[in-house]
Amino acid sequence: RAKADGRGIFRFFEPAMDAMARDRAALEADLRRAIAEDSLHIDYQPLVGIEAGRVEGFEALVRWNHPERGLMMPDDFIPIAEDSGLIIELGEWVLRKACTDAARWDPPLKLSVNLSPAQFAYADICETVARALADAGLPPKRLELEITEGVFVQDAERGIAILSRLRETGVQIAMDDFGTGYSSLSYFRQFPFDKVKIDRSFIADMLHNGQARSIVEAIISLGRGLNLEVVAEGVETEEQLDQLRQQGCTQVQGYLISEPRPIGQFAGSVLSDPAWTAERRAQSRQA
Ligand code: C2E
Ligand code: MG
Ligand code: MG
Ligand code: MG
Repeated sequence: RAKADGRGIFRFFEPAMDAMARDRAALEADLRRAIAEDSLHIDYQPLVGIEAGRVEGFEALVRWNHPERGLMMPDDFIPIAEDSGLIIELGEWVLRKACTDAARWDPPLKLSVNLSPAQFAYADICETVARALADAGLPPKRLELEITEGVFVQDAERGIAILSRLRETGVQIAMDDFGTGYSSLSYFRQFPFDKVKIDRSFIADMLHNGQARSIVEAIISLGRGLNLEVVAEGVETEEQLDQLRQQGCTQVQGYLISEPRPIGQFAGSVLSDPAWTAERRAQSRQA
């Protein structure tokens, strides 16, 4: 409510804040309905082994086609889901749907699913993962969970305990977006990750910025020294790919290979012939 003391600035801002809060509340209600009505969907983005040039798995990325606002990307609604607690239901929906999809892929292909730190805080994520795998008939070794340092920030001991239980069931654990936020090397001493994903901001800058390039090099050598799979996300050019190959990166992901798409759009290509991307790249070079 506007203050009567003449500081008009409050009059100006408060209605705008109200509108934002109302907008958020409306979105939250819409999201609750979308989860219940199964109207979210998942796009998949291939992860390619740099040596063999073959698709080794897909990352599940959730999307929401809002009836009035159109297609919404995770950065538009995951924060709302996290603040409202809806992330528990949303996360379970993604896990169940993605595991069901992945159970139909050729066995070597793996599935990567992103987990929010909030899913560690408020629910039994081990139970949720185990049930999703069992119901889909997907072996745990074909699932990889991508987490960020946020899992350690609130309560590191609890985060490590839950990750350890998950890993004991046979699923793999990847550290996502490494190099941003509160990334700390000590996480790699506290927990045996299977994979580290280099944040795409470094890949975007590595060809024209010596610092970004040195950071990429350092993360790759850290990962290799710890015997981890090292993934570069956001690879958009052949030059980046060449550089990453020389530096010893093991997997790449990015628009150069494919944007995230509905899994049906990969049918007859990578799903049956994982070398598709190498061929496709060669073709696009000739074109
Ligand atoms: P992320 O896990 O780091 O996923 C990679 C993001 O980079 C995706 O954005 C992907 O579309 C984008 N990307 C991939 N290749 C390229 C490229 O070559 N260039 C550029 N510019 N971007 C590229 P998206 O799909 O918008 O997802 C954003 C973030 O939302 C994800 O980042 C992840 O943290 C989160 N997210 C997505 N799906 C889920 C989910 O099911 N659950 C949770 N908790 N978070 C999710
Ligand atoms: Mg990810
Ligand atoms: Mg990432
Ligand atoms: Mg990211």
